Amino acid sequence: MSQQKIKLAEVFYTIQGEGPNAGVPAIFIRLSGCNFKPPCSWKVDGKVQYCDTLYAEKGKLISLDALMSRVNSLIPISVKPIIVFTGGEPTLQYEAISEFISKFGGARYHFDIESNGSLPQSMLNDSAKFYEWIYTFSHYIVSPKPQTPTENIVKLASIHTTPVSFKFVYDGTNIDFIRNTLLKMPFLNPDHIYLMSAGCTPEELRERDIETVELCKKFGYRFSPRIQSWLYGKKRGV
Ligand code: SF4
Repeated sequence: MSQQKIKLAEVFYTIQGEGPNAGVPAIFIRLSGCNFKPPCSWKVDGKVQYCDTLYAEKGKLISLDALMSRVNSLIPISVKPIIVFTGGEPTLQYEAISEFISKFGGARYHFDIESNGSLPQSMLNDSAKFYEWIYTFSHYIVSPKPQTPTENIVKLASIHTTPVSFKFVYDGTNIDFIRNTLLKMPFLNPDHIYLMSAGCTPEELRERDIETVELCKKFGYRFSPRIQSWLYGKKRGV
């Protein structure tokens, strides 16, 4: 029995829709809470859209044991999905995540995490802790935002191999931010840089995706799809 609790927004079985593992069956564990306020925004069809952090904030505190049961109940027999921690900002609950992984069976499953690049101060001060945390994951996907501290970006980019990759959301106006952020990590392997269009519906994504593909061709980045938005639009938990 674990005393640890975790603030959960939702857990569901789907395929990973974005980044290096796009298309892989996945259990998504979406944790509540984000440290970036005001929430991130993008321009979509000329209008500013804000990250729906309210949705990610409406979580419930549940025990790790309850979460493990829910995850177990979602995994079909004979299937070994990856398990993805996302948010909100999941690193805010890194202790609960670490305990979940060690108890759920780190060797049996591959774990991924999607983060805004935040790191607890203890990891910034202690490289051993930092490496132990990073290498817990098969893929550590960082989506840098204007609020992400440069120190964190540089530290995360110092991991030249998998698991760390960077996924930028391109909205038609922020290529300078993306290029300037990448200048801070000149030794980053371009294979680990993903560009994904802003937008939540197939209609919003269609035009932007063509532009995003052209930027990938120009700069050598990898294109990330947004499969759930292509297929289901704004529907949650799919
Ligand atoms: S970091 Fe992620 S969850 Fe937080 S406001 Fe930005 S997009 Fe939303």
